[in-house]
Amino acid sequence: MPELPEVESLRRYLVREGMVGKKFVKIELEDKPESAHGTGTIAGSKQAINQTVSSIERRGKQLAMVFADSVLGFHMGMTGQVQVLDIGEPSPRFTRAQFDLSDKHGDLRIALVDPRRWAIIQHFGSLDHAFAGLGPDALDPAFTASQFTALMAGRTAQIKPLLLNQTVVAGIGNIYADESLHRVEISPARRVSDISKTELAKLFASIRISLEHALEYIVTHPDDRGRPYIVDAYDDRMQLHRKQGSFCPRCEIPLVTLKLGGRTAYYCSNCQT
Ligand SMILES: [Zn+2]
Repeated sequence: MPELPEVESLRRYLVREGMVGKKFVKIELEDKPESAHGTGTIAGSKQAINQTVSSIERRGKQLAMVFADSVLGFHMGMTGQVQVLDIGEPSPRFTRAQFDLSDKHGDLRIALVDPRRWAIIQHFGSLDHAFAGLGPDALDPAFTASQFTALMAGRTAQIKPLLLNQTVVAGIGNIYADESLHRVEISPARRVSDISKTELAKLFASIRISLEHALEYIVTHPDDRGRPYIVDAYDDRMQLHRKQGSFCPRCEIPLVTLKLGGRTAYYCSNCQT
């Protein structure tokens, strides 16, 4: 699933490809019903026609193309990717939407490629609406350790499900929560009320390190067309290798798994308490 680092690298890629300043001049959507189970709606993207992109913003795992008086919000779901195509290039397999943009500098064609069809594109009246309900972005420079500690104060939930709650902090996904907790030797099952302020401040720093390390990795490992997207979770972005039989990178005993809030946590029962 595209997480904060993947979506931030996508945002930078679209800016680099010249999307800001261009107007949507043609929009083609897949000819498939959206009523099928699990399908994310993309119909709202039609309202982007004739709109000019003034900026591309991100909060957590969500992306937004900002226009003069509205916003096109993207949620990548499980497998969504936005790819820049050459003009005239046929759409890749699993394309759900294709957009042509133009300005005096040239034309740009982008496609939403989404095999599982869970990505969502919606039109909103403002950026506040597009990002409604999301907590502060985990990599926002204005978001501080003391603010993070204050958000955790008074809570009794287990730490990992709380980190995954996007209304508290936006942008910490399953794999990065496990990475962050391992770095500071906190069990994913520990109650927030049993974590000291000092440990919470270390955890905040650890979240930043894990996300920034992954972002750096993705940005410096584009595919052969310069696209930054990675969905594989078994590369050097991660210290914890999320598969059966993998070992703690610190004490080298086998990692164990635990289901918390419906998501599988990988952790070391020796290092993390
Ligand atoms: Zn260990």
